[in-house]
Amino acid sequence: MSTLPAPAQTPPTPDPLGLHLPASTETPETLSGARRALVLFVIQGVPLLGFGAGVWLFLREGVSALNAGLLVGMYLLTMTGVEVGLHRYFAHRTFETTRPLRALLLILGSMAGQGSALLWSAVHRVHHAHTDQPGDLHSPVLGRNGAWDKFRGWFWAQFLWYLDVPAIPRFGRLLDRHLESPADLLASKEEDQVHRFARTLPDLLRDGPLVRLNQRYGTWVLLGFVLPTLVGGLATLSWEGALRGLVWGGFVRYYLVQQISFAINSVGHTVGVRPLGSRDYSRNNVVMAVLTLGAGWHNNHHAFPGSARVDFRWWQVDLGGLLIRLLARLGLAWDIRQPSPEAISARASTPMS
Ligand SMILES: [Zn+2]
Ligand SMILES: [Zn+2]
Repeated sequence: MSTLPAPAQTPPTPDPLGLHLPASTETPETLSGARRALVLFVIQGVPLLGFGAGVWLFLREGVSALNAGLLVGMYLLTMTGVEVGLHRYFAHRTFETTRPLRALLLILGSMAGQGSALLWSAVHRVHHAHTDQPGDLHSPVLGRNGAWDKFRGWFWAQFLWYLDVPAIPRFGRLLDRHLESPADLLASKEEDQVHRFARTLPDLLRDGPLVRLNQRYGTWVLLGFVLPTLVGGLATLSWEGALRGLVWGGFVRYYLVQQISFAINSVGHTVGVRPLGSRDYSRNNVVMAVLTLGAGWHNNHHAFPGSARVDFRWWQVDLGGLLIRLLARLGLAWDIRQPSPEAISARASTPMS
């Protein structure tokens, strides 16, 4: 990894949403040791056990076409929910779409179990407002020098960062309390982290039906496990088939989508190339780009966070962007935002590495 100049030496990334967040998200309250262990077990331990069950089954009996299809199908559905739904639609508003399709994207994204669509969007907007600077909630590089420190930064960004964000378990309850009064919440002067999260979402919080759908997050996570169980059971007319559907389309899929999505925070800011000028350490990584349906072109994305497409070279594969363009062809998406070729060339002529 090459040594990079301090990100602050270059102009800041444009802030298309005008968030103007404070330069710090200091977190005075932290989880107790026991609570951290419990959260870690639920978020990382249970999915890892489920993934282990899949590996054990594979070694014992291989995997049937049905279960492989459930794994790939559920992976594509939920990763689309994360990348096209939570990321490009809710967090960045890079295109507009119909209300039914928006609801579907919210549900598919929630099935990935990475937090509700609004929570995910708030954390991500904070990430873009402070990328690799104080206030970034999951930067692997912030203030870290030396190989051991860099490894610890990567490990924290991949597995642990959410334990240091006390607003996460409080966010849903805060929205519940303000279902009928989003304007009060947005006008609040409270300076704790959870209120600051809410204030990053002026465009989303005023939409009552959307917030109510968002608040059914637990149901959507459960649906991500019930669907493959049902398909596996009905296709084989057996409880064993249902259990294998749960393991492959539920747990193995969940673990892979979780770890690959979290790798955008860790690998996406440490491993890869940086062809476009941006104030941060974001990287383009072709393996990550394929696995995440485009998010792995992370340097491209940080250079133009408001763009619905991230394939700025003919050979860069962006399946999420392709889907958005297909939806536009079908009349299901419009107001697709993307930079001009001149703007991309201008960024390419000021690389940081
Ligand atoms: Zn990033
Ligand atoms: Zn983003």
